Parts: sequence; structure tokens; C-alpha cells
Amino acid sequence: MFNSSLRELGAALAAKKISAVELATLFLDRIDTLNPALNAFITTDRDKALAQARAADEHLKLGAGATALSPLCGIPLAHKDIFCTRGWRTSCGSKMLANFVAPYDAAVVEKLADAGMVTLGKLNMDEFAMGSSNESSHFGPVKNPWDTSRVPGGSSGGSAAAIAARLTPAATGTDTGGSIRQPAALCGLTGIKPTYGVVSRYGMIAFASSLDQGGPMAKSAEDCALMLSAIAGFDVRDSTSLERPPEDYGRDLEKPLAGLKIGLPREFFGPGMDDDVRAAVEAALAEYRTLGATTVEVGLPNSGLSVPAYYVIAPAEASSNLSRFDGVRYGYRAPDYDDLEQMYSRSRAQGFGPEVKRRILIGTYVLSHGYYDAYYLQAQKIRRLIAADFAAAFEQCDVIMGPTSPSVAFPIGAKSTDPVQMYLSDIYTVSTNLAGLPGISLPCGFGGTGLEKPMPVGLQIIGKWFDEARMLNVAHKYQQVTDWHKQLPEVAK
Ligand code: GLN
Repeated sequence: MFNSSLRELGAALAAKKISAVELATLFLDRIDTLNPALNAFITTDRDKALAQARAADEHLKLGAGATALSPLCGIPLAHKDIFCTRGWRTSCGSKMLANFVAPYDAAVVEKLADAGMVTLGKLNMDEFAMGSSNESSHFGPVKNPWDTSRVPGGSSGGSAAAIAARLTPAATGTDTGGSIRQPAALCGLTGIKPTYGVVSRYGMIAFASSLDQGGPMAKSAEDCALMLSAIAGFDVRDSTSLERPPEDYGRDLEKPLAGLKIGLPREFFGPGMDDDVRAAVEAALAEYRTLGATTVEVGLPNSGLSVPAYYVIAPAEASSNLSRFDGVRYGYRAPDYDDLEQMYSRSRAQGFGPEVKRRILIGTYVLSHGYYDAYYLQAQKIRRLIAADFAAAFEQCDVIMGPTSPSVAFPIGAKSTDPVQMYLSDIYTVSTNLAGLPGISLPCGFGGTGLEKPMPVGLQIIGKWFDEARMLNVAHKYQQVTDWHKQLPEVAK
């Protein structure tokens, strides 16, 4: 059961083969046994989870009678700890919020709860979602279930490790510069970052507001389509939420791929990508050709500037967003201080970890008088050029493909003392966020030549704005003819 798809779980619940309480118990027991070695969950609450499961069982008993029953009713999931969850500690991976209990639900949490999904707990993450390895969490690093000496990716590393070890059938994640796709790639999962504005950011603790987007992480594109259909939609409480009619993102899953035009940016296939990653991605492209797709080389000439532009814009927005953590309204307050000024500075000095401080310093610097034009404004101009590159590339193709990450999961500690090396993990993912485009990562093989344990490789598909249904179709057809997404790490068996 712990390995079933969301559709299979939904069918088993509807057919009363298992109850929501039994299903939640099965996963909570797995969490108790397997989580200590992985550190993916940082909060669980059996009573709360089972209360939700009992409510779901009540709905399931009534069946589709009174209100239309969601296909997700009774299925367990877990939330990245960046999503405010009423009555649950919501720490954002930080000492600053280590004792913060959210008084309300984020829009994403609310929608999945309304669908009858059962919250198992909250998932570890890089502090304030800043990182690519989940090593910056106040609660300690998450371990990759495929090899516990390696990182799961970040910042949604807890979400990725939890699904890979089958501690939850699905999870929520957020992606500011790759944090859904990169951990999905490193842990052998499927994760989609929707078009900016499709999923409400209400109640999702802000990192870089013009880049942040929540989305689902799961075992397959089909599962992601079900979850995305449940969480997408306009929300008056998020001023950048887009007013669009609701969509069934799974509507095109079965569409044949004959005639699909795949764009391959030459900048994504140059040096920088490890050979084992390249081999797996090339093999996936060959599979797509067999499915009737054609490939065309495209150019994204400004993509080399995406990491520098991102690491100006994201810290700039973060420095502003994180100013709310001052020890006054909520969160950590330093125990000793002489005056207000000292209370602010000590609370922030003690409450934030080194990566968060680094971002606040960079962000404050690039926004300061005298440097604003040289850095922030330039970065915004580059951002526009990057979006224009994609628009031009999409004149020639339906989707763009390439690697998600330049390498397989690296050892814990390998990059944690070198921020620039860490930032380069995002080389293939950040341009999508800068352009507001949707992107999905799905497993396409294993790499790690010479390693004791093979590590998953992710294929990235980037779609046109609002073309999530098409991307999910393209990912799903591949998953019907391959079984990379069905492989399990040893610890999960
Ligand atoms: N790794 C990137 C960063 O550190 C992206 C993080 C994210 O998408 N939340 O900013």
C-alpha cells in the first residue's frame, strides 16, 4: 500500500478496502521507524493526523452523495514547513520560528484539507528555503534515502526524502530557484513548479516573492496532476494570484506525443553537466523520439546570466521579506538586551543562521543607494532578457528539455563551506523562475559512475506559460514506457 499511486489509494479508499485511519496509521508507523535515519519530518502529531483521517472516513462513508467527493479524500500527505498550518508548528527550518504555531492555514494547506487529505506532519527544509542541499536547516540536515551520506537536494529536501522513502505518498514543496525540481531530481521523484501566479502564495512564508511558487512533489506526473488540480486557482488574498478558470491538469495525460517538438537549449548541454547525467538525459531524449517527438536545437543566450541575476534579485527580496522577523511580533526574541535596538539586533543575530544572514547582507547591499542601479536594476534587465529568450525559443518548440541538476546528489558537507559552488547547483533551474515559467523534473535514470550506490538523475521539462497540462502529459507518456519513477531505495523496501 505504501508504494501505491494517489489514484490507487483513492480507489482503495472508495472501495472500502482500507480506511483513511488505517492508511494514516500505516504511514505514521513508517515515519516512526524510518524517519530517525533520514530527518525528513520535523513535526508529527498522531492525534491530529488521526482526527483528520476520521473526518475523511466520515466523508467517504457518505460517498459522492451530498457533496462531490475529491479523489484525494482520505489520502495522507505532508507539508513543507514553509506552509502555515493551523495549530501546527511552522518553523520554516529556522530557529527564528522554532516555536511558532501558525494561527491559520496557507491557501495550499486549506485546499488540500478541504479535499479531505490527511496531514501526517511537517517536513524539514533549508532555513527560509535558502539552499540546495537541506544542510542549512536549524533542525539538521536531511539524508538522501538512496545514500544517507548524501544530500537530498534543497530546499524542499524533507519533502523529497519523505516521498522517496515512502513515508508519505505525496508532499508540498516550494520553488524559488529550483527547490521543487532539484530535490525531486536528486531523490528520484516527480515535482512540478507551476507558472508564477497559478498557486496562491497566501500563508507560504515569503522568501523572494516574485519568484516563489508552491507545487506538488510525488511519485509520478499523474499524481502531480491530481494534486495541482486541487491546489491551483485564484485567491484574493494573494495579490499576484492570477484570475483564471479552474483547470483539470490531468485532462491531457493520455494524449499521444506524435508531432511533439522538443527544444534543446545548447546552453543546457554544454560543459558543466556531469557525464552520467548527460548519458541519462540523452537516453530519455531517445525514448521521446521513439514516442514520436522530434528535437530541435534552440538558444537561450542569456542563460549564463541567470545564476548571477537570481542571486541579486532573490536576496534583495529576501532582505525585505525577512525584516518582519524582529523579535517583536512573533518568533525568536533574544533573552538579554538593554534597549530596543539591541533587542532587534540580538534577536536577528541569534535567530538566523549563516546562509540567511549572508542573503540579507547581499540583498541589503544591492538595494542600497549607490549600488541599486549597478546590481538590482541590471539584474531586473537581465531577468527581462531571459524571459524574452524563452519566448523566442518557444516559437520553435512545444516544450524545452534538459537536465534538472548538473550532478547527482553530492555528499553531505561537500559544498556547505563554498556558497558559490552551492549556488551553481541551480544553474538549470533558476532561469525558469526568473521567467515565471512552469517546470517539471522527473526521474530518467541513474548515475554516479564509480559510486557504491547508484543515484537518481532528473530530466527537466520546461513548458510555455500556463502549459502545465501539456508538460504533465509529456512526463506521463514517458513514465508509461519507463519505470525509473518506480524504483525504490533500499531503506524504503
Ligand atoms: N537553491 C536556491 C537558493 O538557495 C533555490 C531555493 C529555492 O528554490 N527555494 O536560493
